[in-house]
Amino acid sequence: MPDMIARYAEVVGPHTMDSLKIIADMLRGKRIVHVNSTKEGGGVAEILSSMVPLSRALGLDVSWEVIEGNPEFFACTKTLHNSLQGMPGGLSEGQVEAYAETSRLNALRLGGTLEDADYVFIHDPQPAALLGLLPGRRGKWIWRCHIDVSSPNRSVWRFVKKHVEGYDASIFSLPDFAQPLPHTQCLITPSIDPLSDKNIPLQKGEAERVYGELGVPLDKPVVLQVSRFDRFKDPLGVIESFRIARKHVDLRLVLAGGGATDDPESGAVLDEVQRAAAQDPDIHVLVLPPDAHRTINALQTGAAVVMQKSTKEGFGLTVTEALWKKKPVIGGDVGGIRLQIINRFNGFRVRSPEGAAMRIRYLLAHRWKRERMGVNARQYVLENFLITGQLRRYLSLLIALDSPGGEWERWI
Ligand code: UDP
Repeated sequence: MPDMIARYAEVVGPHTMDSLKIIADMLRGKRIVHVNSTKEGGGVAEILSSMVPLSRALGLDVSWEVIEGNPEFFACTKTLHNSLQGMPGGLSEGQVEAYAETSRLNALRLGGTLEDADYVFIHDPQPAALLGLLPGRRGKWIWRCHIDVSSPNRSVWRFVKKHVEGYDASIFSLPDFAQPLPHTQCLITPSIDPLSDKNIPLQKGEAERVYGELGVPLDKPVVLQVSRFDRFKDPLGVIESFRIARKHVDLRLVLAGGGATDDPESGAVLDEVQRAAAQDPDIHVLVLPPDAHRTINALQTGAAVVMQKSTKEGFGLTVTEALWKKKPVIGGDVGGIRLQIINRFNGFRVRSPEGAAMRIRYLLAHRWKRERMGVNARQYVLENFLITGQLRRYLSLLIALDSPGGEWERWI
């Protein structure tokens, strides 16, 4: 698919694509498998949807497997996720059993593919136990942690650690997330795909048309947050910020999101959000289907200000997506958002609804600042957070794992 490579080269430059091709050529004939827990919804699925086709266009033998589980299993992995991000609580005996049983069933289903692979990327804790259940594996296994494990619940971390310490390497998004583990750990940030429906430039007037179709008038500036309905994304805090800002400036709020097949809590969070927004004609809660990528693109393109007021965040692809569209972002001062937002340069990091409201007012009152920060925002993403760079680091890690101590470590 040389066409695809040429289109990436138009965005990132031919030299970047040439060096990616050289690195990919070193892995030709090797089998690489990614495993995660959902085909759609959330950042991991978003990245793999782009990384797998790009890897194949570079001539690599890459596949993507999704583990299957019942509601008890996904209730357990949601608890794992929440408590690794610091919520109190732990796994019940039943949940531990559901995790073990589902892992066994997936090991039976995927074992052949995984044991034969040269490299396996296991994304997040959901499929992490597969390694211990496949003693015949011959390749290198990498645990890719996408979540904010800066202050995990210790007992739950010990449970996860037991499953991941046998891996050949782990990847985290931030130094704050690194953990005591007996293998190589590296830092690789997630990324967005500039050619995906979510991030390509839209046709003139498309954003306005989409807002119209969704019943959101563009008669006043729009503040937007796009997120799964998840408490760590703090949708209620966004509503509070909006209400404080609205005392001073006329605006609308759009909260757009959906669920993910591996997230059993989104319905309850959505109910809370809808209750908090009820009777307020300036708050629009949009429940989107999982493939609404172009719609999200239009919402981000047409917004005046984008928020991501998370209280924990592994990375926050929605921040990068908005920065790429030249929107300054107001984000929670946590996790991966700290890597992406530089105060006053491309947005603001905030710690309270009051702080967020002040930044909303500031950005709406200073259009030229908004525009200048937007230009910085796009350039920053171009230099740091595009899929081509992330893939180069992943591939360099694979090469480095086969030649420890070699110069490839410098490329990661
Ligand atoms: N997303 C989506 N539909 C939704 C909500 C989110 O397509 O209803 C996308 C969003 O645009 C982003 C990803 O899902 O690409 C979310 O990744 P992020 O890292 O922001 O958060 P996560 O959901 O992984 O915690």
